[in-house]
Amino acid sequence: MSFSSLALDKSLTDAIKALGYENPTPIQQQAIPAVLAGKDIMAGAQTGTGKTAAFALPILQQLMKATDASRPISALVLTPTRELAQQVYKSFLSYAQNTQLNVAVAYGGVSINNQIAALEKGADILIATPGRLLDHLTKENVNLSQLQTIVFDEADRMLDMGFKDEIDQILSRLPSKRQTLLFSATFDDAIFKLSKTLLNNPLLIEVNQRNAAATEVEQLVYTVDSDRKRELTSFLIGSKNWHQVLIFTRTKQMADDLAKEMCKDGIQTQSIHGDKSQGARERVLAEFKQGKTRALVATDVAARGIDIIDLQYVINYELPYVAEDYIHRIGRTGRAGNAGLAISLMSPSEEWLLEAVEKVLDSTLLKQWLPGYEPDLSKQDQPVKRSNKSKQKKHARNKALGIKTTKKRR
Ligand code: AMP
Repeated sequence: MSFSSLALDKSLTDAIKALGYENPTPIQQQAIPAVLAGKDIMAGAQTGTGKTAAFALPILQQLMKATDASRPISALVLTPTRELAQQVYKSFLSYAQNTQLNVAVAYGGVSINNQIAALEKGADILIATPGRLLDHLTKENVNLSQLQTIVFDEADRMLDMGFKDEIDQILSRLPSKRQTLLFSATFDDAIFKLSKTLLNNPLLIEVNQRNAAATEVEQLVYTVDSDRKRELTSFLIGSKNWHQVLIFTRTKQMADDLAKEMCKDGIQTQSIHGDKSQGARERVLAEFKQGKTRALVATDVAARGIDIIDLQYVINYELPYVAEDYIHRIGRTGRAGNAGLAISLMSPSEEWLLEAVEKVLDSTLLKQWLPGYEPDLSKQDQPVKRSNKSKQKKHARNKALGIKTTKKRR
């Protein structure tokens, strides 16, 4: 299938041609005609599949036909993180470069005044994170009464981050007659529950197997003692001469500590997480993209929206507490059909976290020992504490399924 068979306006096809897109990706082939036909959609598409253009192109095409000179906000894209909001905003700007449409972006961590000024000029499309959007709504900087289309991008992550209340408040200010597009890398009961309240007879699109990992990504698991993980990470990067390696830790503190230690090992490394200012996060990301930094250590939330087409290597320094995060992590590589390698460093005490990942993937990952870094079996690692978050998630899931969970008697 070619872009010409999707009946998109020439101003849009010229823009995507200039970006080097030759043919629509599977999610684009299915979503673009459905969105143009006015349908609600629920799409299971992980990052790297071209999902942004799958909603951006038909939204732009629909709005190009509109003639309202007062320029109310007609389309809203909600994203869980600032980085993803920036990323989606940039994509909209490049797709809309030959049109007269205005795009604005609003997220927290930066001054609100520039955003107010941009909104006052008039925006057809707004990309926003839920918290900052609510701020603007409360201060009456934005009016969503004329909204035609709302997109939930990475809806699973929005729920994971606890944005359900904000989403409800935002929904209460939207016209009830609207088109709703929901994109999620993973599907669980919470997503299905949300979709029931949001979507009207939606078209279900699944371009990958549900909860599937990116297929172009090779996955390796090395069992290693936790106190040797740093040494092994530096060894892998140094001996294989890898550049641009994204490393995941569970905590901000670990991200900072690891970045410092790796610099001592001679590997230029920085960290990115939610305690850093927006400016610092953008600077760190830009330096990583430009190749000034060889490794970037990130927490799960901060890594959302990082889009580096040729990022080849992801290291899970610690396995995530929320198994679905594994899919998001390794989805940072293997983008747009490129090959990728995801290495997980699992200490013996993290085995239960790997089991949870395997359950989500519905497949078993081969565990290996790397010569020289074999775990010392005489040493018993402290078991990793099960986080409250995953307990709460399990409880919410059981509740949605109608399964009663009983509290243990003391
Ligand atoms: P996304 O899943 O929207 O984050 O997109 C992943 C990457 O694929 C982005 O860098 C896009 O610019 C790129 N991309 C999107 N659609 C296409 C296409 N049809 N052909 C080639 N690259 C694309």
